[in-house]
Amino acid sequence: MAENWLKFLGTAGARFVVTKQLRASGGLWACLEDVHILIDPGPGCLVRCLSSKPKLDPTKLAAILLSHRHLDHANDINIMMEAMSEGGFQRRGRVFVPRDALEQDPVILHYVRGYVEEIVPLRVGGRYALGPNVHFRTPLAHQHGPETFGFVFETPKRTISYITCTLYFPELAKAYAGCDLLLINTVRRKKEEMEERKIRHLSLEDARTLIEAIRPRTAILTHFGMTMVRAKPWELAKELSAETGVEVLAASDGMRFELP
Ligand SMILES: [Zn+2]
Ligand SMILES: [Zn+2]
Repeated sequence: MAENWLKFLGTAGARFVVTKQLRASGGLWACLEDVHILIDPGPGCLVRCLSSKPKLDPTKLAAILLSHRHLDHANDINIMMEAMSEGGFQRRGRVFVPRDALEQDPVILHYVRGYVEEIVPLRVGGRYALGPNVHFRTPLAHQHGPETFGFVFETPKRTISYITCTLYFPELAKAYAGCDLLLINTVRRKKEEMEERKIRHLSLEDARTLIEAIRPRTAILTHFGMTMVRAKPWELAKELSAETGVEVLAASDGMRFELP
């Protein structure tokens, strides 16, 4: 039977939690119908892959996906491209990134680009094949500063939405609706503080709004900033489950989630 699971290589979001490594920041490894996909390889991704038990082998990756060019998402993308291609000696794998990750002040170095089979710039409304039974869509542009896309993964048996960093706006719920599993980058505990400081991230309250509108079978919160880490995300997730009637989990570093 085909394997379907997610492994959280890190759950840190925003600068303080990442730079102090209060949580790890390696991104997310997804295995969908035996297709291995790496999403948002932040600082420490390679180290986390190789120190995972069992070890995650970068040469097994079919693709690397980047939601946007911020360092907490993109820091390890070059070394992961090198690892995926065995140091550049085996041209292998595909890389999907917003166009602004390739242009001015590119996060993907020019000399690394030839290591992979293809680099695909993402676009609004795009649908991309990762394997015969695995596709993903980029339904809309997020409001986050740099060009930013979330992902909707589709396999014959399940749909998984990943809402990456963004300011909340009502179109998000419709764009990511119809999923069995919903991943939400929940950086901030409170919404008010954000408006004051003009931080373009989702808060716990925004996560609740999205979970109530989308009503997936399971929602997983991840990418925590300082205010979320201090408030014990696992307790907040439990409260959210009780309030919404949807199973809500808080991701932890190294957590593996078997897709039902
Ligand atoms: Zn960001
Ligand atoms: Zn982020």
